Amino acid sequence: MQARPAAHMSAEGSRDNGATDGTMSPANGRVPKTANYEFGGPIGAFLVMASLPVVVYYLYFACSKESCGITYKPALSTRLEDYFDWEVNLILLGWIAFQAALYMVPVGKIAKGLPLRNGRRLQYRMNGFMAFVVSVTSFGALLFFKYPVTILYDKFLPFMTSSIIVSVILSILVYIKARTAPNHALATGGNSGNIIYDFFIGHELNPRLGSFDIKVFCELRPGLIGWVMIDLAFVVKAWADFPDNPPWGLLALTFSQVLYVADSLWYEECVLSTMDIIHDGFGFMLSFGDLAWVPFTYTLQARYLVDHSETTESKFCLLTIAALGLLGYYIFRASNSQKNEFRQNPNGSKVAHLQSIPTSTGKRLLVSGWWGLVRHPNYLGDLILALSWSLYCGFDSIIPYFYPIYFMILLVHRAYRDAAMCKEKYGEAWEQYCKRVPYQIFPLIF
Ligand code: NDP
Repeated sequence: MQARPAAHMSAEGSRDNGATDGTMSPANGRVPKTANYEFGGPIGAFLVMASLPVVVYYLYFACSKESCGITYKPALSTRLEDYFDWEVNLILLGWIAFQAALYMVPVGKIAKGLPLRNGRRLQYRMNGFMAFVVSVTSFGALLFFKYPVTILYDKFLPFMTSSIIVSVILSILVYIKARTAPNHALATGGNSGNIIYDFFIGHELNPRLGSFDIKVFCELRPGLIGWVMIDLAFVVKAWADFPDNPPWGLLALTFSQVLYVADSLWYEECVLSTMDIIHDGFGFMLSFGDLAWVPFTYTLQARYLVDHSETTESKFCLLTIAALGLLGYYIFRASNSQKNEFRQNPNGSKVAHLQSIPTSTGKRLLVSGWWGLVRHPNYLGDLILALSWSLYCGFDSIIPYFYPIYFMILLVHRAYRDAAMCKEKYGEAWEQYCKRVPYQIFPLIF
């Protein structure tokens, strides 16, 4: 690493708009060129970018009211207005602006992110749960005043198109911004010099406008809370279609997904130590993922249950699936909390009894409790929960199982990415941990 002139340092400091504290490390955190490509390098990144929107549209068309299956060949509309709608555009932009305004409301604690390469720690306002409660209450108010909230169902396709367009435009804007960002603000993984690759993976680590953190905002607000709004609109639609027949499966699914989103926002601070925040830059991958992929593919099971109301599960089946979902949620929450508590204070009363091994960085790695069972117990819980969501849809079609299948691939890939990073961070200690905890996600299997 190379020291930088003090004058440059202060200029860069002023770019952070005072939203940081901590001191510059002597090495000044210069970000080196990215040495190793992920996702198959520029070609892989290009193919992923080209295929993700296709998958989102495919899932929409392959699973409609008429039919839902991989062999189903729907008749695609050629009318532009079926895909793009100005009113929908306005609603979407209004929604993002509403969430941005809530993000800026000065309530909730200020949390510090993990130290950046230059020693600084960004500050974040933690008011996500408030935004969630206000959003759900606003949805209730709109329903009360008879606003047709089912527009989210009726114009799902234009909402999808607009969200994709917004995510692409945002990726372009943040990439342009990143080109003028100081070196220390770049993401270690997205500084290859290849435009396609850096655009995809994210060139700048934490793009900000003043104290407005674009990445944390996108990770937790418009798309994630939007997912809940879509689910709720689907419940309204299903109940309106069959008022005498409450959609129990859809209600249970929605409850579980709302709990999952509410949990993410209640424990919002935990996002600050995730790979997305500390390692990945903000580029197409996260912009598209947060704004288009999450709200329009994670709602697939709910959409299936609205369109296929004949999917009836016995009360016993529903209760069994709900219990499985709660088990998944419990593993997910307990393991994430255990690690967070340990990272915050290894001597805390809830984690002091756990065994851990030292590393050369001063941090320790847990080898008992949840993190002694497998190396990613939180992924295990998340996957069980994901599976439970699809089980509500029965077994008539494989398409509603897209989410757990895709999620398993994502988390297995993520486990390998994390292992490579931990090996680099902790060296010998990581190898020792892997020997003591041989399985990554599924005990005795993987
Ligand atoms: P983790 O929360 O598993 O974080 C991995 C980090 O934890 C490692 O880099 C290391 O960081 C630390 N760590 C690993 N092993 C140990 C140990 N034995 N003891 C102490 N610390 C350890 O990964 P993610 O950030 O990928 O996931 C966070 C959550 O988000 C998960 O529950 C995941 O399921 C969920 N998720 C959900 C997605 C969705 O689309 N719904 C997408 C991606 C993730 P360090 O040592 O530096 O602290």
